Amino acid sequence: MKGLKGKTALITGASSGIGQAIAVRLAQEGCNVVINYRKDLEGAEATEAQALERACNSAAAECGVQTLLIKGDVANEADIIRMINAAVEKFGKLDILVNNAGIQTEQASHEVTADQLDRVLNVNLRGAYLCAREAIKQFLAHHNPGVVINISSVHEIIPRPLYVSYSISKGGMGNMTRTLALEYAKQGIRVNAIAPGATVTPINSDWTEDREKQAEVERHIPMRRAGTSEEMAAAVAFLASDEAAYITGQTLYIDGGLTLYADFQEPWSA
Ligand code: NAD
Repeated sequence: MKGLKGKTALITGASSGIGQAIAVRLAQEGCNVVINYRKDLEGAEATEAQALERACNSAAAECGVQTLLIKGDVANEADIIRMINAAVEKFGKLDILVNNAGIQTEQASHEVTADQLDRVLNVNLRGAYLCAREAIKQFLAHHNPGVVINISSVHEIIPRPLYVSYSISKGGMGNMTRTLALEYAKQGIRVNAIAPGATVTPINSDWTEDREKQAEVERHIPMRRAGTSEEMAAAVAFLASDEAAYITGQTLYIDGGLTLYADFQEPWSA
């Protein structure tokens, strides 16, 4: 895709799932990739190996891709600053930030403790914002029209009972995407989000590891299947590239039709 070769992209939570697929896809497009992981070094190394292999088999990348693994917790401000600085130190600048790290917890809303709420918000929303803040500082310092891409969720707009912390975090992420996009548009900095629907990744192991449960999930999706991490990564590559040069402040829903009022797919009222 246009404009990605030679760029440097930092992806948070890139040791598994959607983050891993994004790192691999951006490497395929010729980006140097900074692979953040919290604990799972093995997963991060697998991302690195796949990214380098994909880059070597790709005409766009021509084997010129480099990687950097960085351990860090996006709930920790000092870790975020250290991560962004390490990326800039190695590659000279940062061009693309992908805020992918995310967690969810299930609990009736009247029983959620302040600590449980904080834990989810600190990773999904505060962490994403602080990463964006530090990336934007670097973009401005280098007069670089960089790109931020937030990995939101269909629950940016669909309420999700039993997951109030997660819903709040992704709803906030939508507003953060639009606010930062508006604030930095004149410097050419673009801020967008993708909102995956049900996607086969470790965060959903409760249903992806059970065929019957997965079939039940897929019954609710208009396209009758869950999405893949690679489908999410393709949209991120597009939004990061110059093909999307005039797109900012948008959330792109990638959900097999889940946000189309799925219950209206078959007529049920006169
Ligand atoms: P996942 O569990 O494989 O990925 C989440 C990643 O975030 C993991 O690698 C984890 O180690 C990392 N992480 C968690 N806390 C962290 C922290 N404090 N610091 C750094 N990294 C941390 O699941 P996934 O589905 O690939 O999730 C990726 C993103 O996609 C999340 O933001 C999630 O909310 C979003 N999403 C997923 C789905 C889905 O159906 N899978 C749907 C909508 C949105």
